[in-house]
Amino acid sequence: MDFYRILGVGRDATPEEIKRAFRKKAKQFHPDLNPEYQEIFKQITHAYDTLIDPEKRKKYDETLKNFEKKDFSRIIGDILADFLGFHTKPVSGENITAKINISVEEGYFGTVKTLKYKRKIKCENCAGRGITSLSRITECPKCKGSGRVKKAFIQIPCFECFGRGFVIKNPCPVCKGSGRTLKLEKKSVKIPAGVLNGQNVVVESGGNEGINGGKSGDLILKIKIKDGKFRIKKLDLTAEIKIKKENLTEGGFISITDIEGNRLRLPVEPSEKPVKIRIKNRGYRDITGNRGDLVIKLIPV
Ligand SMILES: [Zn+2]
Ligand SMILES: [Zn+2]
Repeated sequence: MDFYRILGVGRDATPEEIKRAFRKKAKQFHPDLNPEYQEIFKQITHAYDTLIDPEKRKKYDETLKNFEKKDFSRIIGDILADFLGFHTKPVSGENITAKINISVEEGYFGTVKTLKYKRKIKCENCAGRGITSLSRITECPKCKGSGRVKKAFIQIPCFECFGRGFVIKNPCPVCKGSGRTLKLEKKSVKIPAGVLNGQNVVVESGGNEGINGGKSGDLILKIKIKDGKFRIKKLDLTAEIKIKKENLTEGGFISITDIEGNRLRLPVEPSEKPVKIRIKNRGYRDITGNRGDLVIKLIPV
């Protein structure tokens, strides 16, 4: 029997509120009005007598709590979760960070990459609650329900039950009570033209799903550009071309192709040593449009 419900007050009701509620109910259900009210009136009076006495109320509250802890069938689902303070507040999902390799050309023109990764999503078996109808709440074996354990000479919150005094037996078997499961995700991600080594591309809400309606985290992709025919040095594109020694000593013209596929015919001064040719504004272009140079190194072989 819930005395609070009988009087129609909250668990945290002040003595004033309890008095007021009692007067109202006693008036409404007075046996003088109707002899059939006798039993109800007795209950109201008993509830009032208990709740108005601080000592009695404290004892009663403890009994009520223990009763609710054990009588699981009555407090399953939302009520249980609220009672436990368990998965009731929205918690945002975590970000997921991953590396993504792209070529210099993919970085220059932009690209779409398909990637597979694992992320936590809401458990379908328990709708993210971590408990099912088979779950049971039992007294914590470590602290025997007190929520506190002794360490040296002091009492500290029980680590087994996080100070709650109870533990959940048979949590959702799919997510082991966590409310989320791992899912292999396949996603196509647009990599914008002009990304640089070490920059992040953020896929909003691509991270772990939140708990209890909390928003999802992001997927953060760290760009790693792999050298190929070209290398990126700041915003310059560098390339090495091997050339026959005799051709270099004679000098003349050399044909090269830039990153956009344009063929360039460049004059080469006669030389015995490697030659560097810098072509302005034919290098890498960053996201804001700044462009570097193309730097070709001719190596005699
Ligand atoms: Zn405990
Ligand atoms: Zn589950």
